[in-house]
Order: sequence, then C-alpha cells, then structure tokens
Amino acid sequence: MRGKRSKQYRKLMEQFSMTFGFREPYQVLVDAEMVRDSCRFKMDLAPALHRTVHGEVKAMITQCEIRKLYAQNKESGVVEAIDLAKTLERRRCGHHPDQYPEPLSTEECMKSVVDPKGTNQNKHRYVVASQSQEVRRMLRGIKGVPLIYIKRSVMILEPMADESVQVRAREERGKFRAELRGSLGKRKRDEDSEDDEKDGGEKGKKEKKGADGKATQGDDKTKKKKGYGRKEPNPLSVQKNKKQDQQKRERPQKPAELDKKEPEQEGPAKRKRRRKAKTGSGETGEGQESAAPAEAASGES
Ligand SMILES: [Zn+2]
Repeated sequence: MRGKRSKQYRKLMEQFSMTFGFREPYQVLVDAEMVRDSCRFKMDLAPALHRTVHGEVKAMITQCEIRKLYAQNKESGVVEAIDLAKTLERRRCGHHPDQYPEPLSTEECMKSVVDPKGTNQNKHRYVVASQSQEVRRMLRGIKGVPLIYIKRSVMILEPMADESVQVRAREERGKFRAELRGSLGKRKRDEDSEDDEKDGGEKGKKEKKGADGKATQGDDKTKKKKGYGRKEPNPLSVQKNKKQDQQKRERPQKPAELDKKEPEQEGPAKRKRRRKAKTGSGETGEGQESAAPAEAASGES
C-alpha cells in the first residue's frame, strides 16, 4: 500500500512539474498547525516532506504562522514546535506586527503569499502543507498548488484539484494536437486515451479485411520488421555455436587426419605453426622416444 501511494505521489509531482513548472528544491509553505502536528506525531518534518514529494525540499514558514506558535508558547509541546519552526526558512509575508497586532489567519496569510495578485495563479510555485481544511479548500481554487496534510501520523499529498486538472487537460490537448500535426505514429502510442486505442484497433482490423492500399502496407511493414527482429538472432547464434562446438570437438579428437586433409583449405598460418610445432616436437619426440628407452636402458645397465 505504501509503495503504491509513493508511486502515485511521484507521478503527481511529475504532473505538477510538467504542467506548472515545479522544480526542485520544492518550496513548501508550512503552517503553524503542521509544525505542531509533526512534533505531536514525532515526525521529522523535512524528511517526511522530502519523501512525500519525492524531491529536495525547502520548508518555509510565514511570519504570521511563527508568531502564532510564539503566542502559544505556554501550551505543552509548543516549545519543541517553535524550535522546529526556527529551523525553517522564514517567508516574509509582510504582515508586520506594527501594522497587524494580531497575525493574520492562516487562510488570509497563505492566500496573500501564494497568490499575491489574486489571479488564481501559484506565482512562486509553492507546495502548501496545511492542517486546516479551510486553507486547503481555498488553495484548491488556485491553479497548481500541491497540498499536503498529516492524517493519523501519515503524510498525505492530495490529488490534483479540479482547477489544476483542467489546466493540465487543456495542456495535454494542446500537446495532442501538436503531435497530431507532427508525427501520426508517435501520438497513437504516447499519450492517447483508451478511445484512440480502440479506434486504432478497429481501423487495423478493417484495413486487414478491406486490403486498403497504403495503410495495409504500413501494417505489413511493421509486422515484418518485428518478425525479423525476433527471428534473426536465435537461429544464427544457435547454428554458429553448434558448428563451433563440433569443430572444437573434432579437432582434438582427430588431429592427424585434419592435418593431412585440410591444410590447403584452412588458414595456412595456423597449420604452419602446428606443423612446425608438430614436426619439431614430433622429431624430438620420436628422438626422445627412441632415445628414452636407450637412456633408460643405459641408466639401468
Ligand atoms: Zn502573514
């Protein structure tokens, strides 16, 4: 289950990267409750974020959010949370205590940081890790905001929100058309819906039956190519091996015969060497053989 989710998240972040231009290190805006809960669940925040988005992470906290933690410092466990928050990069949201005696709500602060111009664009490509459902709901309305929360000590990356899915779908359609104009072959395999595959299959069947000129030729070519690819290596390699094996086996078994019969047919260099060696060794061998008993005999006597 965990592996499956992990794969899902990687794919999801790839989609965010493709469609909205997210790059590592991912900037992750963390709210005060996220910091507190990661401490409560004894979860190392940065490594957990890293695992969730499958990439390098720069965790950040806004001035308003860290002020909220300071304000809660008498509650149990908050000191720990403050220590953790201090290790995160501070994101200047511009909501100064002079101007804002009370920190802004997470919703307001996040909104101003993620979408400063109010154009429903995630200008700086922030990932947002927030424990507030309202905050996440608000951010789903802004295009291209990956959202993270912790549920029962498990870090969750939300599926892409509808707003973002629509942007992605539009872009995919654009690419689809571009590839249509480019190469027909590629687009069928690469990024088509099931409908296209079905259409292709049906067309293929019809073409086979109807024997339509160009299309059937195309089909035949691809089929033949595949056939060659599969058939070529096996029989050749098998035959070669058998021949080589046979030759190897035959040579040592009948060296004398081969030497007599085949010197003209086969490479002369090899044979010459063999002859030299053999004649040399043969002569000396014969000599030794003849000499050996004599020596032995002489040694004995
Ligand atoms: Zn703020």
